[in-house]
Amino acid sequence: MEQPETLLEMVRARIAHAAAVARRKAEEITLVAVSKTHAAEAIAPLIAAGQRVFGENRVQEAQAKWPALREAHPGLELHLVGQLQSNKADDAVALFDCIHSVDRPSLVAALAKAMDKAGRQVPCFIQVNIGAEEQKGGCAIAELPTLLAEARAATLPVIGLMCVPPAGIEPAPFFALLDKLAADHDLPGRSMGMSDDFETAIQLGATHVRVGSALFGARD
Ligand SMILES: *Cc1c(COP(=O)(O)O)cnc(C)c1O
Repeated sequence: MEQPETLLEMVRARIAHAAAVARRKAEEITLVAVSKTHAAEAIAPLIAAGQRVFGENRVQEAQAKWPALREAHPGLELHLVGQLQSNKADDAVALFDCIHSVDRPSLVAALAKAMDKAGRQVPCFIQVNIGAEEQKGGCAIAELPTLLAEARAATLPVIGLMCVPPAGIEPAPFFALLDKLAADHDLPGRSMGMSDDFETAIQLGATHVRVGSALFGARD
């Protein structure tokens, strides 16, 4: 296994190369280092190597790991990339700097209320169930206009769309579709691409790539 700093360098080089091929600027692409399941000791070397944006998929796990890391390293950004229960909206708004997984009216309402209460605006992505998979989070494509209208009416700060394409098949058509949906709704952000496919996502307009195992090694 390579050192964490080496893995970070490799991922950054892959991002830079994909951006160059797509004639985009690498600075337009935010690398979200998804540290779920990994302990603070595994995260610290990446912080030391200059990584500033991290992602977690569970509120409780993030609450256990991040307050100490953030205190030790001011200027970190923490993103929630996993599903969120409405009853954890207050906790999520207190802890995270960006939420990638807003996918239903009840969560829009809960987050808007939590942000009002906390006096803190947390940028959000609407997650789209881009492959229309039964078990997967994300709003159906047909429901996206209504959900966005509700989010806008609630003044939720929506900055883009997020997707996780179906496993095991070519992701490019799904990334292209998410890019089109975002453009149709005048949203600048596209959170798409993971360890196995972030170059493809960058070709197709990703602004945020969520990379876990390519940085931390395989999860148990
Ligand atoms: C775990 C996770 C990732 C990172 O996946 P890797 O394949 O390890 O890069 C990205 N997005 C979401 C929503 C995740 O849950």
